[in-house]
Amino acid sequence: MRQLSRCPMPEISSCRSCGSAEIRKFLSLGNMPLPTALVTKEGLHQPEPRFPLDVAHCPECSLVQILEDVPPQQLFVDNYLYFSSFSDELLRHSREHALRLIEERRLGANSLVVELASNDGYLLKNFVEAGVPVVGIDPAPGQAEAANEAGVPTIAEFFGLELAQRVRREHGSADVVIANNVMAHIPDPNDFVEGISHLLSDGGLLTIENPYVRDLVEKCEFDTIYHEHFFYHSCTSIDRLMRRHGMYLMHVEYFPELHGGTLRWHVAKRGEVSETARQYLEDERERAITEYSYYADFAKKVEAVREELRLVLGGLRAEGARIAGYGAAAKGSTLANYVGIGPELVDFVVDRNVHKQGKYTPGTHIPVRPPEALLNEQPDYVLMLTWNFRDEILAQQQEYLKRGGRFIVPLPWPEVVA
Ligand code: ZN
Repeated sequence: MRQLSRCPMPEISSCRSCGSAEIRKFLSLGNMPLPTALVTKEGLHQPEPRFPLDVAHCPECSLVQILEDVPPQQLFVDNYLYFSSFSDELLRHSREHALRLIEERRLGANSLVVELASNDGYLLKNFVEAGVPVVGIDPAPGQAEAANEAGVPTIAEFFGLELAQRVRREHGSADVVIANNVMAHIPDPNDFVEGISHLLSDGGLLTIENPYVRDLVEKCEFDTIYHEHFFYHSCTSIDRLMRRHGMYLMHVEYFPELHGGTLRWHVAKRGEVSETARQYLEDERERAITEYSYYADFAKKVEAVREELRLVLGGLRAEGARIAGYGAAAKGSTLANYVGIGPELVDFVVDRNVHKQGKYTPGTHIPVRPPEALLNEQPDYVLMLTWNFRDEILAQQQEYLKRGGRFIVPLPWPEVVA
């Protein structure tokens, strides 16, 4: 039996965005290891820290958030192994976004594009190629170094008002600020957004991509909840946060296939609010996404998925099936730890990220191997832990499927895909 050590963790008592003390818990996922803390062979017998994972809703600003306060240093610097360039789908999506911004905003040699959480420069390099000056900001040293080596100037620090002032002094104000998949990651959203407001030119555009809390609830994507994600945003919560800092939600785009449903919010300091943005805000009021009642039954749905997955995997295993997993990502960590999926059910997990191979999944200690292991071992089933890249994985694994392999997609409800 592996050792577990439960760590005390400071809990917030008021909303991180608006400060309301009325926040109300609606889901507890139990004690979880940090989702990106993959374990080395030597670390297998060391105690592994675990922290509670509870989710609450704020009735004032409508923001859904976890209650625990994990130090960002521990999450995004020490153990951070996520390199955006490992996903082809994300690269394509990002390139289209960059090219459109260059055209629509008429960006050129005198413009400035700043990206927050720019990772390894996967998006900014499209602007660099077009001759548009950029500044990337990402606190993870390995990612920032990779970006700088690829010709994307990147500052390896956490973003907030202080850094925004420095960037503005050195480079001037930004025509475009991009914040993709980072609005969930920042423990102090007001300092972060105040920094953006300071940096953005008066006629500038901020675009934010983030999963939608409506998809989380309606598609039961509970595995997107982990200690890296402090927030689960709606259009309402974003608009209220931005208005506190002299900006507002101007337009909304939706990408149903990206990360299980991603919204792109357009935010500005001036200009007309689009009809689409108005409709999203109205729709959230009608569905009561702004109210606690919308979230009240979520815990029951999540428990039902856990029971079903245990039945499916346990049943297949009892019949002698060999099962592997795909994707040693953070969401797989929540799913495996919450459902209770360890090496007794899943023999190994494959991942394209070479930094993860040879290690073990956090808490559940399943060995991580390169994707080629699927063809070498030909397991009967592969549990798709990174179902957000479902189509991409199915396309890549045609040979495995041709030889009779099958995938189990766990959410929104466990299903076998052949
Ligand atoms: Zn609030």
